Amino acid sequence: MPIKTRCPDCRAPITLADAEAGETVTCPGCYATFTAPKRVVAAAHRAGVGGQSGGVNASPLAMVEAGIRRAANG
Ligand SMILES: [Zn+2]
Repeated sequence: MPIKTRCPDCRAPITLADAEAGETVTCPGCYATFTAPKRVVAAAHRAGVGGQSGGVNASPLAMVEAGIRRAANG
């Protein structure tokens, strides 16, 4: 799955190969080197699907901790 990002220097849209995630890549436009992001785009999409607040950290453990904290506060 290609990774779509932008050059942090010239803001040009860049498509990277999956193998380049987390690697140092060179912008084809301005030849600046930067570290390619790992696949965080998929996580961002998933966070928007639920439509509930706090969905990003909605792990079972986090939900349990939230319930405990709420009970402790009365
Ligand atoms: Zn650039």
